[in-house]
Parts: sequence; structure tokens; C-alpha cells
Amino acid sequence: MSINIGFIGLGIMGKPMCRNLLKAGYSLAVYDRSSVPVKELVADGASEAASGKEVAGRSEVVITMLPDGPDVEQAVLGPDGVLAGARPGTVLIDMSSINPLVAQKIGAACSERGIDFLDAPVSGGEPKAIEGTLAIMVGGNQGVFEKATPILQKLGSSVTLTGPVGAGNVTKLANQIIVACNIAAMGEAFVLATAAGLDPEVVFNAIKGGLAGSTVLNAKAPMVIARNFKPGFKIRLHQKDLRNALLAGGEMKIPLPLTGIVQDMITSLVNDGKGEQDHSAIVMALEATAGLQIVKPAAARA
Ligand code: NAD
Repeated sequence: MSINIGFIGLGIMGKPMCRNLLKAGYSLAVYDRSSVPVKELVADGASEAASGKEVAGRSEVVITMLPDGPDVEQAVLGPDGVLAGARPGTVLIDMSSINPLVAQKIGAACSERGIDFLDAPVSGGEPKAIEGTLAIMVGGNQGVFEKATPILQKLGSSVTLTGPVGAGNVTKLANQIIVACNIAAMGEAFVLATAAGLDPEVVFNAIKGGLAGSTVLNAKAPMVIARNFKPGFKIRLHQKDLRNALLAGGEMKIPLPLTGIVQDMITSLVNDGKGEQDHSAIVMALEATAGLQIVKPAAARA
């Protein structure tokens, strides 16, 4: 395969995504501010770069997968960043989940240098990043999207252009509102069932095939019942996404009342030291108000 790809941000998501690109035969230059994942990927066949600038100098397509907008701004616009090393005609695909307005700012800076930009955040978490079956929601120009699609198809099973630059992140924020509110509603429902003396696992099995059933319910209810809050997707990252949603809503003068309520729950959990737990632990905010935990009754556990 003749395309050289550069990848910046080798965390929970970036590392397995890199492995899928290597498996597909692309040559890959990688950079992360932490050297540990860089060394692991070099062992898998990637080549190490010392900065975003060096990654860009060696690549026709650069992908970033970083925590938030300020990280992407630093990695792309900073002195040693992608724009300092990229040639005109390079395609930059930011797959991080960030504020759509920051994506547009980065897109404008790219366009001044003749660099094509897509914002392409993902849904599906680490398991789907490993399988290469992420849902990828893309903002940008149709021609650039078509150029990038064969690469994105190595990372995801669904790749959808939802509008111009920024639209990928607006779509991702919609996704994150639905997921967070779903987890909170699930917590409230299972607190009620547990308080009534029911076994939450039996309740889950009874409702999962009906209208309340969802991918969120199937993924998160078993984790809550098993008290397994190992991330997955960390509460502090969901706090970042809802903050971006509320900022975007504020700028567009759109009230997001449910998002605001769930964000307050998340903030209290983060302040209580739970920011590194999986976002299924949002249910703990509901448990705290009721003074109980969603667990199987003692008789059922024995
Ligand atoms: P992570 O914290 O595991 O990884 C981020 C990586 O970026 C780290 O290795 C860090 O060292 C590196 N980094 C940060 N700033 C950098 C910089 N300026 N230059 C170079 N490297 C830098 O995060 P993650 O879970 O992989 O998430 C990445 C993005 O994907 C986030 O926007 C997140 O919201 C989104 N996302 C995550 C999941 C999930 O389940 N984890 C699911 C969907 C979307």
C-alpha cells in the first residue's frame, strides 16, 4: 500500500486503531507525548516520530486521536505541530471528540495552508476500536471524504458524512447526550427496582427485548450489576463531551436541560474521585440519592 499515514495520540482508542491500519498494510509513523505506547507500536511495525511536525513531514494522511480540543490545537497548531510539517495536499483527519467550534477553527487554519481537514469522531469504545467496527461520523468536504473513506473503512464498519467541517462533532455530541441520559435513566430505574426488593438482573432480562432495550442497556447494565466499573470510557471524558455539548448549545441559544442535569451528576462524581471509572458508574449518582446499590438481593447472590 503506497499511502504513508501518520498517527498522533496512542491511548485506549488510538493504539488499537493503529494496529488495524498496520494490519491493512499501511506504513505508519506514530507520535504520542508518552513513550510507552510508541514503543509498543514500533514493536508491531510502526515507525517512531519525535513530534507532530515530524509525523506530518513523513505522511500524506495524518490522523489525530487526542482527549479534547486544546490537545488537538496543541498537536496541530503548536510550534512542533502537524501544520509546521505538513505539505499542501496532506489530509488531516481529527478523530478525537471535541467542541465543533474548535474543529472549525482547526479546519480554517488547515485550509489557509492548503491542507484538507475532516473532523471524524467515533462511537463504539475500545472493543470496537480493536475489532475495527467503530461508527465514524464525519464532517467535511465530499471530495476529501471520498479520499479518506478507504482508510476510515479499516477502522469502522459505518462511515457517514453528516455535513461540513464541525458536523462530525455535532453528531458525536448528539450521540453522547443519548448515551449519558440513557445510563442515568437506567440507574434511576434499577434503583427503583432494587428498592422494591427485585433482582436487577431479572429486571434487565425482562425488559431488554422490549422498547426500553438498547445497546447502552445491554453493554452497561451487566457491568453495574457486577459492580465492574473498569473503563472503557472514563467518566471524565464524558464530562468533557457534555461540557462541549453545553458550550455548543449555549452558543446556539439551545437549552439542553437533560444534559445539564446529567452533567451535574457527573461533576459530583468527578469531585468525589470517580472520574477514572467507566461511565456506567454514572448510576452511582442515583444510588447515592437513594442510599442503596444496584445489586442482586442477598438470597439471589448466595
Ligand atoms: P486516552 O486518554 O486513553 O489517550 C489519549 C492519548 O493522547 C494519550 O496516550 C496521551 O498521552 C496522548 N496525548 C494527549 N495530548 C497529546 C499531545 N498534545 N501530543 C501527543 N500526544 C498527546 O484517550 P482515549 O480514550 O483514547 O480517547 C481519545 C478520544 O477518543 C477522546 O476525544 C475520547 O472522547 C474519544 N473516544 C473515546 C472512547 C473510549 O471508549 N475510550 C470512545 C469513543 C470516543
